[in-house]
Amino acid sequence: MVSAPPSSPVRVRFCPSPTGNPHVGLVRTALFNWAFARHHGGTMVFRIEDTDAARDSEESYKQLLDSMRWLGLDWDEGPETGGPFGPYRQSQRMDIYADVASRLLAAGHAYRCYCTAAELETRREAARAAGRPSGYDGRCRELSAEQTAAFEAEGRSAIVRFRMPGESITFTDLVRGELTFAPENVTDFGIVRANGAPLYTLVNPVDDALMEITHVLRGEDLLSSTPRQIALHRALAAIGVGSGALPAFGHLPYVMGEGNKKLSKRDPQASLNLYRERGFLPQGLLNYLSLLGWSLAEDRDIFTLQEMVAAFDLADVNANPARFDLKKCEAINAVHLREMPVADFAAACAPWLSAPHAPWRPGAFDQAAFDELAPLAQTRLTVLSDITDNVDFLFLDEPVRDEKSWQKAMKPGAAEVLVSARARLTGVAWNAEDLKAAVLAAGEEHGLKLGKAQAPLRVAVTGRTVGLPLFESLEVLGRDRTLARVDAALAELAASA
Ligand code: GLU
Ligand code: ZN
Repeated sequence: MVSAPPSSPVRVRFCPSPTGNPHVGLVRTALFNWAFARHHGGTMVFRIEDTDAARDSEESYKQLLDSMRWLGLDWDEGPETGGPFGPYRQSQRMDIYADVASRLLAAGHAYRCYCTAAELETRREAARAAGRPSGYDGRCRELSAEQTAAFEAEGRSAIVRFRMPGESITFTDLVRGELTFAPENVTDFGIVRANGAPLYTLVNPVDDALMEITHVLRGEDLLSSTPRQIALHRALAAIGVGSGALPAFGHLPYVMGEGNKKLSKRDPQASLNLYRERGFLPQGLLNYLSLLGWSLAEDRDIFTLQEMVAAFDLADVNANPARFDLKKCEAINAVHLREMPVADFAAACAPWLSAPHAPWRPGAFDQAAFDELAPLAQTRLTVLSDITDNVDFLFLDEPVRDEKSWQKAMKPGAAEVLVSARARLTGVAWNAEDLKAAVLAAGEEHGLKLGKAQAPLRVAVTGRTVGLPLFESLEVLGRDRTLARVDAALAELAASA
């Protein structure tokens, strides 16, 4: 299915709150907005919803910007970039919200509500017990001047509450189709706290209106706020805030995690930083995240961001929950790793080849030796951080000691195989092919196939039973270091015999 192109220039927004660490659900939302904007040659607005001083942090704000830059999801208007609708941090727009709130009050689209939290709770309980809808009951909708004065005299404080129009609200969700919300389920809601602080319910639609956002693409968890926001947009249009055009809304499917529960922000598997730390490529991670609710074609899981942008159509976004599958995410990343030019791959490995990731002495790293093995490593890695274990034998003074590997490979008879191999390695021409022939011949002396014959040698030299192809590894490691490690292993076997 192909959607008709939007009639006005596309303006989308990505508007996270800077609380905690960025998570994959947030990245998926950013990606879909970005791809939609880029596909239509539109504008990507990046807005920071930092109106909750108690929860927002500067640290989290910086991380959001850094994450977006790492991912390569660029924005046309927003923090540090600026733009005609700025500022793009809501904490810097408080005077705008105060002004809009007072205009909504003056026009009768909002009113002061003096109900205390305890009173609201008591009435909610009663409504529930009677089987009635339990939203706000409209108690303060039509207060007389005397009632207001009496509440004020009591020293009550008031929130500002938006007056819903009392009719059902219908809109066509870009993902889910037509949706209707009955008035009893969408009651009047608070937009400004008693202390004057504006709430998400106000600032988000106000900024969407003022920033002339045409398409609101966001997670399904926000669907219940949409009828309220539509009503607020209509009121804003009536009082002349913004262009008066209602944005289209599209709600992206839930992302499910382990055990078919919604992936929560607090789920460790959801943290973007974890993927960065493990060495996912931005293009690999984004490729996978694009599949959470969208697909390029039924038989195509692997594609570039450019290909995604070229093909992206909201008509192809699926309303059904998507399941986050770490194994698939890793597999897709591995394909992207293999598709890099080897020089880019080697450069991408660099952070994992020095402190704090690398366990070897500073200065022990040898770029030429690494470059020789890089093409072999490239075909085996899932994530870049795997590189360290694959090449540490080259740069550590002594190989790591992995006890399980040692026990597995150094069975009775291992010493004899090592002795035979050592004898042949002493005189052989030092290249992978001849090394292989030498170890094959050493194994045959003991009636062993190559796989069994090379296991003790691999553990003696690299410390592990698994790793890069052994003979290429030995070739790069060199004869002296190889033989020294075989001798050390033989000495240890002799000592424990
Ligand atoms: N700041 C809101 C959030 O992070 C944005 C929601 C929206 O897209 O409307 O949940
Ligand atoms: Zn009230």
